[in-house]
Amino acid sequence: MRYELMLPHQIRTAIAENWPVALPLGVLEYHGEHMAVGMDTLAVVKTLELFEKEREVVILPPFYYGAASYAVAPPEGTGSVQVGGNQLAPFAEELFYGLLRIGFRNIHAIVHHQTENFAAGMPTDLAFKSAGRQAIFRFLEKQRGEGWWGSKEMADYYAGHAEGENFFNWVQVHPLMPATMNGKYPFDHAGIGETSLMLALCPEAVDAAHFADNTGWYTASAPEASVELGQKGVAMIMDHLREILRR
Ligand SMILES: [Zn+2]
Repeated sequence: MRYELMLPHQIRTAIAENWPVALPLGVLEYHGEHMAVGMDTLAVVKTLELFEKEREVVILPPFYYGAASYAVAPPEGTGSVQVGGNQLAPFAEELFYGLLRIGFRNIHAIVHHQTENFAAGMPTDLAFKSAGRQAIFRFLEKQRGEGWWGSKEMADYYAGHAEGENFFNWVQVHPLMPATMNGKYPFDHAGIGETSLMLALCPEAVDAAHFADNTGWYTASAPEASVELGQKGVAMIMDHLREILRR
């Protein structure tokens, strides 16, 4: 369900049943002359909409204002919007803290932008990963008081941890395309891989009439994009979402 459309009784059901709560996290960035600037975020939004047809999930309004960077193109006349990671982190902490206060314990931000470096981290995902940790510490301390971890009730902490219990799983950040897709689907910026994903998920975000206006090396493969290839990528992404968005 889209969060902004939920009634309080539905929110209470989602909390009681531990539905995953998904935040489409992304940027607005130049993706060549042939593709919309929202590509990275739209890929998350559209695959989550497909996922919602199969499983109970809360979909938060997407956050488009991540750290696009001007690495691909300067912003003048191209559309890239850059908000730095140091500015994103305090916002993200408040957001996650607020979601924990509501009662959600199964929160997942999903990001596509720059995720070829997800393990080490890039500014947008690092800001949200760090914010998730900060929010959980702050929330536990508010709820249980200082010394909560050292208290007697926590004596089984490591045993619980070994069984998979972990407060720090309450807020997670994931790449849209997992590392297991490496070599099975082209990872690129505005090339055949991303353009095919948009053709499959959101065709109005691609205009083939503008392929010829591209001059960047990274868009050279874009004209080879196809709906069929995009659908293969979408199928792999859906398998990944089924894995990470569980009750
Ligand atoms: Zn992209």
